[in-house]
Amino acid sequence: MSEHSADCELTWRHDWAPHLFSFRTVRPAGLVFAPGQFVRLGLAGADGTMVWRAYSIVSPPAADHLEFYSIVVPNGPFTQPLAGLAVGDVVRIDPTVYGFLRTDRFEGGCDLWLLATGTGIAPFMSMLADDAVWRRFERIVVIHSVRRASELVYRDDLSAWARAAPCGARPLVYLPTLTAEPGPLTGRITNLLADGGLERAVGLALSSDDSRLMMCGNPSMIKETRALLGARGMTPVRRETPGHYISENFW
Ligand SMILES: Cc1cc2nc3c(=O)[nH]c(=O)nc-3n(C[C@H](O)[C@H](O)[C@H](O)COP(=O)(O)OP(=O)(O)OC[C@H]3O[C@@H](n4cnc5c(N)ncnc54)[C@H](O)[C@@H]3O)c2cc1C
Repeated sequence: MSEHSADCELTWRHDWAPHLFSFRTVRPAGLVFAPGQFVRLGLAGADGTMVWRAYSIVSPPAADHLEFYSIVVPNGPFTQPLAGLAVGDVVRIDPTVYGFLRTDRFEGGCDLWLLATGTGIAPFMSMLADDAVWRRFERIVVIHSVRRASELVYRDDLSAWARAAPCGARPLVYLPTLTAEPGPLTGRITNLLADGGLERAVGLALSSDDSRLMMCGNPSMIKETRALLGARGMTPVRRETPGHYISENFW
């Protein structure tokens, strides 16, 4: 880890469910990031050695704090000590930023589709809290897939943007989908993509010309979605090559 890592105090904590919480820290001096990027957080593990894990930044670049959203994994080497932190405790932050989940890597397209499972919503919150994305795209769609309605975190912010978007932009199309209980939309993102249910629910067709997609979270969802998009002639954005989608696996 970088020699510049710093102990940063927690200034706020919000528990959404027993295994899901968000927290804010003091922002280390000199940490500059683009929406969608991540940093590494460090804590002493059970045997006292530092455990480092990647965490997407939820807050927008302009905020004076950093916000993160975390799952608590049973017996997880990092999330077990993390879950015990309270306001006033510290977490170490390596200020080196990483990540290619950035909307400025897309060329063309007017519709942005953000597909998240679980904690994969985190980087999208940073993008949506930054006006630049609303100016760049004509329409933005957020699909958040979780098991139960109680896991629909950041619902108030997403619903507010679905009523009125910043910068006079078209309101967000926000569709939560539940996989373990009935809801307005049920089923896995991949099934909904495969049978056309997602496009019907959104009221918009996916197309190579118009659509640019980001997928974040569960590696199986991402692998299957990449295959489904590939079958439609869509390609990943690569360093030197424009494409239609960018993805980030959380494990
Ligand atoms: C680029 C990147 C960004 C990430 N951003 C976030 C984030 O913003 N919020 C967050 O909670 N996690 C995020 N993660 C995952 C995070 O780095 C840790 O893996 C996670 O916090 C669990 O740490 P752990 O040591 O307790 O368990 P680990 O030993 O890291 O993981 C144990 C197992 O738990 C499961 N798991 C791990 N992470 C998740 C998750 N997020 N959701 C569901 N199951 C999971 C997997 O099955 C994994 O094999 C990110 C990972 C990457 C690579």
